[in-house]
Amino acid sequence: MFVVPERMIAGLMTPEEAFGAVEAVFAAMAEGAAYNFPVVREALGEGRQYGFKSGLDRAGAALGVKAGGYFPGNAARGMINHQSTVFLFDPDTGVLRAAVGGNLLTALRTAAASAISIDRLARREARVLGMVGAGHQAVFQLRAAARVRDFDRVIAWNYHPDMLPKLGEVAAELGLPFEAVTLERMVEADVIVTITSSPAFSLASAHVAPGTHLACMGTDTIGKQEVEPALLARARVFTDEVAQSISIGEAQHAIGAGLIAAGDITPLGAVITGAAPGRRSEDEITLFDGTGVGLQDIAVAAKVVELARAQGLAIEVEL
Ligand code: NAD
Repeated sequence: MFVVPERMIAGLMTPEEAFGAVEAVFAAMAEGAAYNFPVVREALGEGRQYGFKSGLDRAGAALGVKAGGYFPGNAARGMINHQSTVFLFDPDTGVLRAAVGGNLLTALRTAAASAISIDRLARREARVLGMVGAGHQAVFQLRAAARVRDFDRVIAWNYHPDMLPKLGEVAAELGLPFEAVTLERMVEADVIVTITSSPAFSLASAHVAPGTHLACMGTDTIGKQEVEPALLARARVFTDEVAQSISIGEAQHAIGAGLIAAGDITPLGAVITGAAPGRRSEDEITLFDGTGVGLQDIAVAAKVVELARAQGLAIEVEL
């Protein structure tokens, strides 16, 4: 088997490779050639969360699982709180093929999903990017969004305003003017990315202008919420996977309130394959509920193993 440790990922994986790998697996999911297994997520106590995201991609000949979670005591030990590892198996034999550091890959595959949604669903002439959230993932989200649209400024809001300057530095690196704003001013945005761990919504329907595309990326478990449920009723809703969207994604709240039904939600993969229409008018609000699926992790891990092997960097070990 091959090991690609966390320290190697930054030198191997690019946002472009992540975009391509995630787009291909979303299409395979829509075609029924790839599917995710039910997510396992358990509370370990003291705020620790541990779980598995897994799936099979027949098209890409990949089978695997991402194991990991959130360990809030890590920061005090000099480690990041989110820790994960991806294991890849031979889909024909079940033999373990690779163990891959999953921390940076998680950020890259999550940002790729959001960027794919912006690429496919936002208005071509979108100019103002709104960011709600300013934590670890937000900087990856900002960079990825800036790759797919020609934004001329970034406006941002965060529950903890002291975190915003770091996001502003990334905007400056990208040459984009950056302004911290109130939630009410999010109506100026053409694209809004939400990436928080909020337990209650911040962004209300009234904060969103017609024609906006939203990538709601923070809600990946029961009880998190970023946007007002009425916004989902007003929008056309897309997702990575409907089963996750209605149970652990942003749509869990609008579904629970009876505002939308599972049948109202379109897999983004169906837009990629052409089976479903994307944006239909300049005025409609499109909302991507990005819940994060195991197949995204498997797709980027398989790509990184391919790159590491091609460069002679993958560490071969006998199990
Ligand atoms: P982080 O801890 O670095 O940042 C947390 C963010 O949430 C900050 O912006 C913080 O200000 C905000 N926040 C915290 N409490 C809040 C509250 N009560 N109200 C409003 N905002 C609040 O976390 P991160 O690594 O940037 O992850 C952000 C979210 O994205 C988490 O919920 C994480 O689980 C989720 N996530 C989703 C995917 C996916 O595929 N969809 C992948 C990775 C992470």
